[in-house]
Amino acid sequence: MRAAVLHEIGQDKLEVLDDIEAVGFGPGKVRIRVRATGLCHSDVSAMNGVLPQPAPFVPGHEGAGEILDVGDGVTGVKQGDRVVICWLPACGTCPACKRGQTELCLAGFMNAGTPNFKRPGGDVFGFAGTGTFTEEVVVGAGCAVPIPDDVPFEIAALIGCGVTTGLGAAINTADVEAGSSVAVIGCGGVGISAIQGARLRGASQIVAVDPVASRREAALSFGATEAVAPDALDDAKLRITAGEGFDYVFEVVGKSATARTAYETTRRGGTLCIVGAGAMDDFLQLNMFELFFDEKRILPSMYGGGDVVRSYERAISLWRSGRIDLEGLITHRVKLAGINDALAQMRSGEALRTCIEI
Ligand SMILES: [Zn+2]
Ligand SMILES: [Zn+2]
Repeated sequence: MRAAVLHEIGQDKLEVLDDIEAVGFGPGKVRIRVRATGLCHSDVSAMNGVLPQPAPFVPGHEGAGEILDVGDGVTGVKQGDRVVICWLPACGTCPACKRGQTELCLAGFMNAGTPNFKRPGGDVFGFAGTGTFTEEVVVGAGCAVPIPDDVPFEIAALIGCGVTTGLGAAINTADVEAGSSVAVIGCGGVGISAIQGARLRGASQIVAVDPVASRREAALSFGATEAVAPDALDDAKLRITAGEGFDYVFEVVGKSATARTAYETTRRGGTLCIVGAGAMDDFLQLNMFELFFDEKRILPSMYGGGDVVRSYERAISLWRSGRIDLEGLITHRVKLAGINDALAQMRSGEALRTCIEI
């Protein structure tokens, strides 16, 4: 079968190969025909080495498809079921799962380092234990979450990471209050979803911050009340909050520099929500005086900061009732030729629908 493969970390071009096999099928596992995949920023971060990932690998961790086959002992899904591919499955028995914080379950990482694919030349890994830039993937049954028939695969794929992460940051983690002021730094698919979450919660001002004009424009159509380039953020803070800072600031980039800006843009006593996935050697500096004196609450948010399956269900319900716009996210807003070209090849013949929401 075909898959788009990155041969070495640091390269920016994927190669579509047709000699790939999904491996590991057996008890407790399911084989999925991938019908749609999104491109999330973390895929790019894995390709360029910001996030740890062995190579060669198949990127993609935001996908949806149909169950082709189930291994012994699998009871939750059956052949033909439509599923979201969850890259962070819940074991259901660890302390984090029992607390309802399934986003902190480490069970899915236990197999890190086990290849998901092979080809005649050797092993091929899958990003985040999945690898959805492919026609088929084998994952643990917990990674296959059934979805209702009315949810198109493209929509389900986006719920698999970006939408869940961004909406959850606003609703579960930051718990945005009605009437508050919000700034969202970084307006890819996750940032846009945080904007939609803040809008749902009734924030009165939502400022989208992004260096790319087309993303700022998109942010306005998803509920931002204004959109500014990073160098205009200080001015927006002055105008909108009289210089005090925003009640909530979301950092959706994953860099210490933007996190520091976000910290300074948060009002005293306000909430800084860290959503972006950053590198292990990138350190955020805070001095001990400001940390205590300004009483800003720093709340990291991993994969939506709550029970993952409940977050999926909530996103589907909000989408179905027209309260969030997910169709609008299925667009090509970036030009990353090395990735887009490969995904276009994968797409040919309807092998795989792709949504690029980085
Ligand atoms: Zn668990
Ligand atoms: Zn992601």
